Parts: sequence; C-alpha cells; structure tokens
Amino acid sequence: MPVLQEQYLSLRKDLSKRKICLVAVSKLKPVLEIQELYDLGQRDFGENYVQELLEKAEHLPNDIRWHYIGHLQTNKVKQIVPFVQLIHSVDSLKLAEEINKQAKKIDKKVDILLQVYIAEEETKFGLDEEELKALLEKLPSLSHLRYRGLMGMASFSDDPAQVRKEFSQLNQLFKKYGPDEDGILSMGMSSDHEIAIEEGSNLVRIGSLIFGERK
Ligand SMILES: *Cc1c(COP(=O)(O)O)cnc(C)c1O
Repeated sequence: MPVLQEQYLSLRKDLSKRKICLVAVSKLKPVLEIQELYDLGQRDFGENYVQELLEKAEHLPNDIRWHYIGHLQTNKVKQIVPFVQLIHSVDSLKLAEEINKQAKKIDKKVDILLQVYIAEEETKFGLDEEELKALLEKLPSLSHLRYRGLMGMASFSDDPAQVRKEFSQLNQLFKKYGPDEDGILSMGMSSDHEIAIEEGSNLVRIGSLIFGERK
C-alpha cells in the first residue's frame, strides 16, 4: 500500500507553519514506503522495535533521523545508540544509566526524553511525577545524556475531554520540569495530535495518517 501522499503533504505544511516537528512513525511499514516518504523530503522517522529499526536503517539513507519511541530494554540499548537521534521512551534510572554507558563508549552524547505516564490504562509505560523528579535529580551525573524534554501517550479514548486533560497534565509537568531551552514536548499521534498541539505539544508522532492503517 503506498504512502498517503496528499495527506502527508498537507499535514506537513500545516505543522511546519505552526513550527511543530513531525516524526513519521514507520513501525511495521516496509523500507520502500519509508524511502517514498524520504524522497518527498521527510527525514524524521520513528520506530518501536530495535531489530526492525536495525534492519531498516541498513537499507535506507544515513541522513535519516531515527527516533526510538517504543519501550526499550536495557540489553538492546547498545545496538541503537550509535545512530539514534532521540530516544523518547526513557522511563527508569537503569535504562538511563545503560544509555549513558553505551554512549560514553563511543564518545557520543545521546538526546533523551523522559516518558511520563498520563493515561488511565495500565498497559502504558512511564514515570509518575515523583519518579520523574527522582530521575531528574540523577541525570546531571550521567555525562553522556542530554535531557531534552518529555514524552507521553494519552488514553485510547473516545472522550476528547479525557485526552485533553491528560495532555494538559503533561504540559504542566513540562513547564515545571522541562529543560530551560529548546525543550521538546513529544505528544500526539494520528488520532489525537490536534488536541495535543492545542495543549502545547511541539512534536507529534504520526503513523497511520501518513502510511495508512497498520495490520
Ligand atoms: C505507533 C505509535 C505512534 C503512531 O501511532 P498512529 O496512531 O499510527 O499515529 C506514536 N507513538 C507511539 C509511541 C507509537 O507506538
């Protein structure tokens, strides 16, 4: 299935006018479709699975900025650190320490976001405010990480008021704990990016609106 070109181009135009970064989420989508989007000028791509990311990166141009947005296991960190642009899903000290350790080995500074739990669903990952505070206190000692901001996922809900409340909550935390300059607030997906932007997002992660539904 080809990329939804028209939809992508109009979305991109709209977001760029509003200075919002568009990460195209390409998980479970083939290299050919990613290349198609790349040829239209897209450079930021998001992936959820380490093995899949490694295989795809090998076959695609090396100026792609890969965003790791899925849950990350410490034993897989080493493989993605050399070429990842931004890890959105740091949710424990153990994981932060491992990224720092692998980054140090190759003398790289890795940009990270801390993932915050805002949804009402048990299945989602992330830190609560206390855990976020505690982790932020440790970050300065991890010399090869660069703290860039926060990421969160709202509940999968038909109720826009609920989604808005969760995004607004995350924005409050971002204002309180985000970096002083150029902070990134990664929130909003295909179904809820409009609400996320209204609530302060400056980076959206969009998959199905661009690539069509995933199987
Ligand atoms: C899959 C995924 C997205 C994109 O979802 P769509 O609904 O297809 O836009 C965004 N963020 C994360 C963390 C994801 O896992």
